[in-house]
Amino acid sequence: MGSIRARLTAAYTAAFIGTLVIFSIALLAVRREILVRELETRVESEAEQVVRAILLARNTGTEPVVAREDPLAGPSVSLRMAAFLSLLEGYVLVQDSTQYDIYASPAVRQLSSSDRDIFSTAARQSVPAPGARRLVMRADEVLLATRVVPLSDNARYRVYAALSTRDISYTPRELVGTMLVIAPFLLAISMTFAYFIAGRAFRPIDRIIDQVEAITDGRSLHRRLVIGAAGDELARLSSTLNAMIERLETSFGALRRFTADASHELKTPLAVIRADIERALSPSSSEVEQAVAIEEALQQVTLMADLVDSLLTLARADEGRFDLYREPVEIAPLMREVVETARLLGEDAGLTIDAPIMENAEILADLTRLRQLFLNLVTNAIKYTPRGGRVELTLARGDADVTFAVKDTGIGIAAADLPYIFERFWRADRVRSRASERGGFGLGLAICQWIAQAHGGRLSVQSRLGRGSTFTVVLPLAGAPGSGMTGEYESVVNRPMGDMSVDDGMLTAD
Ligand code: ADP
Repeated sequence: MGSIRARLTAAYTAAFIGTLVIFSIALLAVRREILVRELETRVESEAEQVVRAILLARNTGTEPVVAREDPLAGPSVSLRMAAFLSLLEGYVLVQDSTQYDIYASPAVRQLSSSDRDIFSTAARQSVPAPGARRLVMRADEVLLATRVVPLSDNARYRVYAALSTRDISYTPRELVGTMLVIAPFLLAISMTFAYFIAGRAFRPIDRIIDQVEAITDGRSLHRRLVIGAAGDELARLSSTLNAMIERLETSFGALRRFTADASHELKTPLAVIRADIERALSPSSSEVEQAVAIEEALQQVTLMADLVDSLLTLARADEGRFDLYREPVEIAPLMREVVETARLLGEDAGLTIDAPIMENAEILADLTRLRQLFLNLVTNAIKYTPRGGRVELTLARGDADVTFAVKDTGIGIAAADLPYIFERFWRADRVRSRASERGGFGLGLAICQWIAQAHGGRLSVQSRLGRGSTFTVVLPLAGAPGSGMTGEYESVVNRPMGDMSVDDGMLTAD
């Protein structure tokens, strides 16, 4: 039995027993009340009957009370009246004005002397009024009704009628007895019912579990759960799980691609290094050839070290374990430094470097990472702009942020490529860019994007193939919302591709 199912069944049964007990107690109380009312009506009607009998006898001229032959004995009811009264059940007592008992029913006569006292005292004290009062004697507990039959101004009969409440008592013990007989059947029925209902309720969940198990074996992540048409909680659960599986599929795919790309990138320099070392070790190689081979191997090692360094940066960023040492940074001096480097590189590449707008601002930043971000964008602009072109750097301060933009008149990026450029290992022209002097690993922009996001900012691009590109970094000013946080950095591998929009005829990605 599934544990939730068992727990539900147990909880349901416990609730059922609780309800049953409360119901039985309520039933007992209501039943008692009804029986007491009935008894009250009966006892009152009995008292009324006595009164009516006395009045009837008087009205028809038959004196209901006669003197007895024994002069010492007091008066007594007539034989006819006694015969009628003896038909009444329970306790019946009739007294004359002197409170002498002119009739006492057998039940009254059988009372022990102490109970008789209790009865008489209660009878004397009771006010003749509609309704009955409860009277507890040693041997019995009764409801007592009292009536007065006026005879003359100072003469009257008093009539007392009482019925035992014992006949109506329905004790908890009897109830428990009944319950003990019925309860096992009720329990068995309710448990079976609860177990069956819980089973039915969990069947769709079992189905979802089976499907998830089948999907999450790693090879079937392309499959999705069937979403029920009911639109209930289970349909929501299925669609939430589907969304999660989709994200998992994306992450797994990206991870697989990433591992394959990383191995591939490491394989090439390793092959070159191996060839170089073999060449250097070859006895037929001249000293010059050996030196050339070793230098080439050294270059490849540097390249590999750069790659490993970039991979490490991204891996740490993915884990959220990369500490940024953020401090207030004046951005204009950094910008001047970057412009200086750009001019040196631009001169070699035959490009014009302009920096028309340079407004200072203070931001909370990790200076090293920020320099890396700016230089990456600048070197890319220089790398991908043919001779004679122009690269423009601007730094503009807004109300809450500062915008650093690098605009080039270079080769640009095709609209179809734009959504991918922040992905790891992505390069517009893989084959050529590895082989050419532009050779990069396609990790630079992924790192740039991480740095921007980790500073609470964002990096976006606008580009047109053959016309040039503009990379824009927006960073919050010190004290602006988001400036103190490490940003909403998400794994770049897992990140969905950047949003795309067409802006001024330029395609944009971020
Ligand atoms: P890489 O080291 O290959 O330059 P990046 O991540 O910096 O890696 O860039 C990824 C790709 O984006 C580049 O290979 C290039 O195709 C394209 N790219 C980046 N910057 C520019 C630019 N300013 N102009 C044209 N293409 C660019």
